[in-house]
Amino acid sequence: MAIRNITVLGSGTMGHGIAQVSATAGYNIILRDIKQEFLDSAMGKIKWSLDKMTDKKRITESEAEDILSRIKPELDLAKAVEKADLIIEAVPEIMDLKRKVYGELNAVAPSGTIFASNTSTLPITEVAGTTTRPDRFIGIHFFNPPQLMRLVEIIPGKKTAPDVVDATGKYVKSLRKEPVMCRRDVPGFIVNRLFIPLAHEACHVMDRRGYKIEEIDSVAKFRLGFPMGILELSDFTGMDVMHKATVEMHSRDKRSIHPHPRIEQLFNSGKLGKKSGEGFYSYSKENYERIPLSEELAERVDLVPLVAGLINNAAWMVTNGVSTIDEIELAARLGLGLKIPLFETASKIGMSDIINELQRLARSEGEFYTPDPLLGTM
Ligand code: NAD
Repeated sequence: MAIRNITVLGSGTMGHGIAQVSATAGYNIILRDIKQEFLDSAMGKIKWSLDKMTDKKRITESEAEDILSRIKPELDLAKAVEKADLIIEAVPEIMDLKRKVYGELNAVAPSGTIFASNTSTLPITEVAGTTTRPDRFIGIHFFNPPQLMRLVEIIPGKKTAPDVVDATGKYVKSLRKEPVMCRRDVPGFIVNRLFIPLAHEACHVMDRRGYKIEEIDSVAKFRLGFPMGILELSDFTGMDVMHKATVEMHSRDKRSIHPHPRIEQLFNSGKLGKKSGEGFYSYSKENYERIPLSEELAERVDLVPLVAGLINNAAWMVTNGVSTIDEIELAARLGLGLKIPLFETASKIGMSDIINELQRLARSEGEFYTPDPLLGTM
């Protein structure tokens, strides 16, 4: 199945970026939104981004013009999809809205067209069930900003046909991005299943051990290999996103996350992180501020409790056929910027120490911490 024509639904943060990278790879794009002003703004952002690439000599002016000419803004849904081989949906993360959009699409999209959702948190099989073609439906999870982030998670639903998985993988590779297969439609997919529970775990570890926030973030940066602290990264992500993902993951599978109340409290009090000026940390509006983290602070923290929950979640994904160790490491490197492989950190610490810690926590805190059998074999 050859993909040439792509329609992107939603021209917001993700949609305009997906349109740009796809047009750069030579696809013909129709970008659809519900108001002309949204489309104008999206086309302006794409032009700005291409101009920047031209200034940096990464593309020529004529290449930038060609890319832009391959993206056609369109308000009319039927016109937008009439020639589409692939439709990538990037409308807001509201199940009722997605249902409405797919209801409209069912009526107008050609029968062979692949439907791909860029959802971060909704179950692919459930969204697929709102269409008349669950076999031609797939999750394709780009990271923000799509222009820069190389990782794309591909999530087949229960009924997705193999040729659709294959065509989606080829499309992602043609963008010069790295597709990682999330073989089961699990809450959080791969990257968020590692990151969101880790942010909660960082809060639990601070409570249990009395560590300060800068200490816990320093250990993440200097000994786990994150590009910044975990709670600093939570502030960048935004407490609205963190909270929504937590609720979605926890409601679908209690085993996937052990929520700490701090994130919900911050969300409820409007402390959304960097974007609101305060979250775990406070930020002054004028400057791009980095949190003062150091190797010295990192040395004060016991690495075992923080790594235990994280590696246990990764091991669960391997045992349950979601992904392989290599794919999880690739996803963590490209999606979270992790510089040291996770399983390498765990084996440096020693699996027996990690298993002992998990067993102790399982007794006191519950089954979320039950060690995955894979860890015992390593
Ligand atoms: P956004 O709010 O920035 O953009 C959504 C766009 O969809 C808006 O322009 C809106 O006008 C448009 N829209 C609304 N109804 C529409 C309709 N019926 N048809 C066409 N367009 C419509 O949202 P976003 O951040 O780009 O997120 C889009 C999707 O991508 C969500 O499912 C989200 O979970 C997912 N996602 C977001 C990020 C992120 O960091 N923002 C990362 C990965 C995945």
